[in-house]
Amino acid sequence: MVKPDIRQVTVEEIGDFFSARNKPRFHARQVSEWLWKKSARSFSEMTNLPKEIRRELGDHFSFPALHPEHIQKSRDGTLKVAFRTDDGNLTESVLIPSGSRHTACISSQSGCPLGCVFCATGRLGFRRNLTAGEIFDQVSCLSAGEEGLTGKARPRMPEANPLSNLVFMGMGEPLLNYEQVKLAIEKITSPGGLGMSPQRITVSSVGIPDLIRKMADDRPRYHFALSLHTANNEKRNRIVPVNRKYPVESLSEAMKYYHKVTGKRFTIEFILFREFNDSVEDAKELAAFCRSFPVKINLIGYNPVEGSGYRKPDPLRVEAFRRELERRNLVVNLRKSRGGDIDAACGQLAGKVITDYGLRITDYGLRMTNDQ
Ligand code: SF4
Repeated sequence: MVKPDIRQVTVEEIGDFFSARNKPRFHARQVSEWLWKKSARSFSEMTNLPKEIRRELGDHFSFPALHPEHIQKSRDGTLKVAFRTDDGNLTESVLIPSGSRHTACISSQSGCPLGCVFCATGRLGFRRNLTAGEIFDQVSCLSAGEEGLTGKARPRMPEANPLSNLVFMGMGEPLLNYEQVKLAIEKITSPGGLGMSPQRITVSSVGIPDLIRKMADDRPRYHFALSLHTANNEKRNRIVPVNRKYPVESLSEAMKYYHKVTGKRFTIEFILFREFNDSVEDAKELAAFCRSFPVKINLIGYNPVEGSGYRKPDPLRVEAFRRELERRNLVVNLRKSRGGDIDAACGQLAGKVITDYGLRITDYGLRMTNDQ
C-alpha cells in the first residue's frame, strides 16, 4: 500500500487519524505546527510528540522531503543549491542576497517538459513534478541561509525569516504543476506556516492559456509574470516550442481574461538575445502586445548557456530597445543578472550542477563550492 504524503493531508484528516486510534485530536495541531511552522522534514524531529505516536505516523504516512546536497557560492554572494528528492531526483534553487533583501528563486519541477532552447533546464528533460512539501522545503531551507543548508542551523521560524521575495523562476513550468504550487504558496503565506506576504511572491510562466484562466479564477494574491521573450510568433516558435501550440494571440487573450478577472497588472519577462529579439522593431512588437493590459516589463540580457547558439546582447541595442518602450509610456526595468559565474542566472539553472553531479555522483556528500 502506498502511504499518503503527510503534507498532502489536512489537519482535520490528521485529527481523524488520531481519533480512530483513540488518541487526542490535539496532536494534529502539533503535527501541523511541525510541518508548516517549524519546517520539520521528518517525523523524528517532532520531539514534543510521544515516540509511539511518531512511530504510528511513520507507519501510516510517508514524508517525502528535499535534502540539500550541493551548494555553490558566486562572487556576488548568490547561492545555488542542488536538492535531492527521496526518490533520487534533483532540483535547484537560488538565493540572491541584495543588502537586507534576500530573494529566493524556487523550482516547481525536477527538469522541465517544455524544452525552451535557451534554457539549461529545458535540455534536461522532465523528471517529475515536485510536491507542495518539496516546494516548501526549498523556501524553508533557503530562509536559514548557508548555515541552515549545511545543517549548522535549523530553518528559521517565520518571525525570523529573512526572505523578502520569492520567485517561481527556477526549474520547471509552475502552471504545469499548478495544484501543488498553489498548496505550497498557501502554506508559505499562511499564519500557520511561514507567514510570508503573497505580495512578495511571483509565479512566472511561459504561458499556458487554460491554466492562466484557471489561476485567474482562483483570484491569486501573489503576482504573475509572463516569460514572453518575443511577441513575434515565428521567433517565439524557435525559442519556446510550446508557442506552436499556444501562439502569442492566445496568450494575449488569456492575459486579457486575467486582468479582467483579477484587476491586476502583471510582469512581462523579456530575455534579450543578441541580434535575435533586441531590435527596435522587436520593441515595437512588444509594445503592441502590451496595448491590451497594464504591465511592467523586465528586460534581462541573456547569459549564454553552452551550445544554445544564442549570445549576450549589445548594451547599446539594449538601451535603444528600452528607450523605444519608454517612449511609448511603458514601465521598464533593466534587470541585472546575478550568479552568472556559477550558472545560477536566468536560463542557466540546472546546467553545470547537474553536469557536476554526473561526474561526481558516486561519492556525493554535502559539499560547498566557493567560487571566489
Ligand atoms: Fe522550462 Fe522555463 Fe526552462 Fe522553458 S525556460 S524549459 S519553461 S524551465
